[in-house]
Amino acid sequence: MTLEYEQLLEDMEKDRQHTRLTPHFTLAEMTRTSVRGADNTPSEEAVENLRRLCGWLEKLREEWNVRYGEGNDPIIVSSGYRSKVVNRAVGGSTTSNHLTGCAADIRACGPEQALRYATILLDISDNSQEAFDELLLERKGCAYWVHFAVRPQGNRRRIRSVEN
Ligand SMILES: [Zn+2]
Repeated sequence: MTLEYEQLLEDMEKDRQHTRLTPHFTLAEMTRTSVRGADNTPSEEAVENLRRLCGWLEKLREEWNVRYGEGNDPIIVSSGYRSKVVNRAVGGSTTSNHLTGCAADIRACGPEQALRYATILLDISDNSQEAFDELLLERKGCAYWVHFAVRPQGNRRRIRSVEN
């Protein structure tokens, strides 16, 4: 266990809400779950993956606000890291990128915002020449979100539209 991870676990115990992975994303929001009583503490490796992912989310936030937002619009993550127990409880796939902290579900207020988020993420990938694993435009009823995943390596650049 590295000192940095030890410190993170300590901070998390003291004040989960304010333990930051990057300037605008906290560990609390990247590990939040509606599954009551389930331990959803990420491993050191998962924290590293979450931090990499949050780097992309920071760029998404910045670019959204430059192009369309009011300057300080947040990016809302409804699901990030999921422990095995949490993933099973929400019916996630056994190979889900959420299990390793490589994926985030980014809430969109409708199809238009989801498409704009997706466009920005593709532009970020083009400009940085960095690959991503999944960019899924998901919908369930009238709820829309973008499932976005980045792995440490072996990124497959899967782009799809998914009806849940
Ligand atoms: Zn997802």
